[in-house]
Amino acid sequence: MEAGFSVNDTDTPIAALKREILALCRRKGWGDARGVQNPQHVAMAMTVEMSELLEHFQWLNPPDVERLLAGDDPDRTALIAEEFADVMMYALQLADALNIDVTREVLRKIDIVDRRPPDPNAPKR
Ligand SMILES: [Mg+2]
Repeated sequence: MEAGFSVNDTDTPIAALKREILALCRRKGWGDARGVQNPQHVAMAMTVEMSELLEHFQWLNPPDVERLLAGDDPDRTALIAEEFADVMMYALQLADALNIDVTREVLRKIDIVDRRPPDPNAPKR
């Protein structure tokens, strides 16, 4: 890991994570000279990792979910976190390969959803 950046969401810019992932890809010999992999492959790999993430939620009943939300299932939470990281790493690789600014696009999407009128027939979330 690059020196000088803190290991938490508060202090770590998204750009720093993108650099770390590219560095990992270069160390592993994945992708081009910068470590950029084929975005089509990255998108497909991301869905595989998303399935691995979902597997940890498969067949949970409401009390299991409540335990998870309460922080009373640290083993399952750790497994979910690991798969979440896989998904995020591919998402950030995709963003880097296609020059997507994550912050700008997320904020733009929040604005779009915010402006969307409520659907009176939508199920309650
Ligand atoms: Mg995985």
